[in-house]
Amino acid sequence: MRVLITGGAGFLGSHLSDRFIAEGHTVIAMDNLITGNAQNIAHLFGHERFRFMKHDVTDYIHIDGALDAVLHFASPASPVDYLELPIQTLKVGALGTHKALGLAKEKNARFLLASTSEVYGDPQIHPQPESYYGHVNPIGPRGVYDEAKRFAEAMTMAYHRSHGVQTRIVRIFNTYGPRMRLRDGRVVPNFIQQALRHEPITVYGDGSQTRSFQYVSDLVEGVYRLLQSDYSDPVNIGNPQERTILQFAEVINELTGNPAGVVKQDMRTQDDPQVRQPDITRAGQILGWAPRVSLQEGLQQTIPWFRNELITRGELA
Ligand code: UDP
Repeated sequence: MRVLITGGAGFLGSHLSDRFIAEGHTVIAMDNLITGNAQNIAHLFGHERFRFMKHDVTDYIHIDGALDAVLHFASPASPVDYLELPIQTLKVGALGTHKALGLAKEKNARFLLASTSEVYGDPQIHPQPESYYGHVNPIGPRGVYDEAKRFAEAMTMAYHRSHGVQTRIVRIFNTYGPRMRLRDGRVVPNFIQQALRHEPITVYGDGSQTRSFQYVSDLVEGVYRLLQSDYSDPVNIGNPQERTILQFAEVINELTGNPAGVVKQDMRTQDDPQVRQPDITRAGQILGWAPRVSLQEGLQQTIPWFRNELITRGELA
């Protein structure tokens, strides 16, 4: 296959690029590098089946030659990022999705949308199955991301129904691993860096809010299988092992030997979901997929990567 990955220099896009290259495919990674980082794909530069295009997916896209698949992963993805980049976030989810779908239609390629558990908002059904319509505040600070992704799903289904494009929608739950942006403000980079510096971990609110964390290799496997399936309705991909944020902080402190404990801060953003856990029945039935990497195993890959990054940048002795 010849595959275009938007957001190809981002956390998920770069791991997907690795997987497609490893499977013998040709990858064009597109990124405007607003939140992506060329360092994430530096090891692929010079590979004969890899090409990088610095381009903003909200502008008209021209690609020479055939394409078999378009994977649309471009977007700011952490609450801190999309609060800082609200208009870019809306544009890449709306205009970017439209351009990427137009390209897929033109090339007769499959299209896969990276959607999100955020389409469920602050959910009133727990765990969240794909059939749940969600509980989203359109005008809250998170609305720029949530509504952009909801629009992106609607646009994807419209191209599927009206133009017959072969489309796939993955709803991604909290995912972590090497290459997350150090300063993206999300819970995994924040907690690991604080713990490695032996600082107290900043738990927002009382820490009773829950998340369910999946390791990046599980996500990549789910996306790879979904692309090859013939299923066009959304599929949740996430690890259902749910923890409170306070419990998560304790796990990180334990694995890093951080003696500094936690400090509670009144920093929760408006509409910060109180709970989040994927119902993955559908992924099991349609894709035969289930997560394989435990939190401990995943963190044992991730913590050393962060340590190394901080040492390389001279931020940790
Ligand atoms: N959080 C926290 N401390 C931090 C960063 C985040 O307690 O330093 C909390 C945040 O309030 C939220 C959860 O961790 O309840 C996950 O936040 P994240 O920014 O990773 O993304 P989200 O899952 O909300 O999209």
